[in-house]
Amino acid sequence: MSLNNIMYYGIDFNHFKLQDNKETRVLIRRLFLHPYINCSKVVEILKKKFESHTLEKLISDLEEGLNRYIKEPKINISQESLDAINGKIHSWSTFFGQLTEVEILEYIDYHELNKEEYFSIIKSYNLEVASNPSAIKEILDQYVIGQEKAKEAICFAFYLHLLRTGIIKPPIIIGDSMENDYARYSLPKPNMMLVGSTGSGKTYIIKTLCNLFDIPFVKIDCASLTSSGYTGKGVDDYLYSLYKNLDQDLEKMEKSIIYFDEIDKLSEHFIGRGSVGGVELQQEFLTLLEDEEIMVEPPSKSTGQNFKLKSSNLMFVFSGSFSGIEKIIENRNKGERKLGFNRSPPPSPEKNSVIAHLTPQDIISFGIIPELVGRINFIESLDPLTVEDIKNIMLFSKDSALERYKNFFKIHLDKLIIMDEVYELIAAQVIESGGGGRAIVSCLQRLLKDVLFKAPNMKREVFIIDKDYFNQIFNSKSHDL
Ligand code: ADP
Repeated sequence: MSLNNIMYYGIDFNHFKLQDNKETRVLIRRLFLHPYINCSKVVEILKKKFESHTLEKLISDLEEGLNRYIKEPKINISQESLDAINGKIHSWSTFFGQLTEVEILEYIDYHELNKEEYFSIIKSYNLEVASNPSAIKEILDQYVIGQEKAKEAICFAFYLHLLRTGIIKPPIIIGDSMENDYARYSLPKPNMMLVGSTGSGKTYIIKTLCNLFDIPFVKIDCASLTSSGYTGKGVDDYLYSLYKNLDQDLEKMEKSIIYFDEIDKLSEHFIGRGSVGGVELQQEFLTLLEDEEIMVEPPSKSTGQNFKLKSSNLMFVFSGSFSGIEKIIENRNKGERKLGFNRSPPPSPEKNSVIAHLTPQDIISFGIIPELVGRINFIESLDPLTVEDIKNIMLFSKDSALERYKNFFKIHLDKLIIMDEVYELIAAQVIESGGGGRAIVSCLQRLLKDVLFKAPNMKREVFIIDKDYFNQIFNSKSHDL
């Protein structure tokens, strides 16, 4: 098909009179759609590639073509500053839809980049635009759906982390601080506690930020942790494997985010931890938070060396579902009202709004020691995901599992069409399974199992998933999720 007669992302290329070849297509798509590549980079590439076709002419052609499809605001690329162009590329990318994995691969192929180089471009661009918490949130919004309140707090804490570690420069340098010595400003520590039901996105938000900004991340599973002096996996083992994964780059490791999952299982009221007390472990965490330096020992059977880790710039995130904490919040609120305090409005019976009234006191009542809670300055709750959220995650999150399944069909020259009414049904099924966002993949896998099996026969088929198909799979009682 000729580039001159296709409508591509709503743009009529007939207008541009460009050479119809793979390179041109990829370049043009990048210019309009790539949310991350700095515009100056694209311009540089365009200059090289279109030496005969002046850049000004190309830009004004593109501009005119685009303006035929976008009513307001009018686009005037040639007279804009680079910053403004970058901003527009961002908004166009939302307007025309996100890049698919296939496009990303095409891009990598075109520039002969390997995946690592590609992601390093993305990371450096992200750092360039991460000049404030809302810019960080804008990037995160492409991946994480909903959870607005938590995302704001997390992006703020993350911004603090970037500043404290010197990864980004502060807008104003106080006094005569040396370059890269920003931590001297003694900004607040961004230690966090995230409370929210399983699969609500606690890990995903932090991990996505780390991936997008090239921050080392390690997740420590508190439920299976043993205190030092006991056999089993301890905090040191996790830190040691991170150190090895980072090729022993201590400077980089000192900027890490250490994520403690299922901290609620260390509650002093939690039954079933066996010989190692949860409170003992909580006290160990306290020393991690308080001390300036951590001595990390290699796992007992390994041959590695001890090392000292400066911990003042590490960011600690504690997370858990804190099942039953709603009762504590409700009781506290009842008590406060009886005594005549009226600090927070009475929570409505929905679980959603109860958790939004969480205070540090509730975490202490749940069984986390006050000394630890007192050192965590961000305590945030996440809402349980709704059917609407799950639907939006499938349709709009940039690394949606659904997109990955669709790509499977694409690479086998097939097409997967899911009828609109089915998204709601899938989302309801996901919620029913109780795994939050985590259940999306298993639900899609179950729904698509048969068509996935048939797809690789290279017959260019179109598979349509409608309500009847969904009911056939999910309403047979024998295979519940
Ligand atoms: P938890 O809250 O138990 O840590 P996760 O963060 O691991 O849950 O979420 C599980 C998966 O669900 C994620 O990997 C992600 O794919 C999906 N998910 C959960 N919440 C969201 C969200 N708000 N937006 C996009 N995807 C989400």
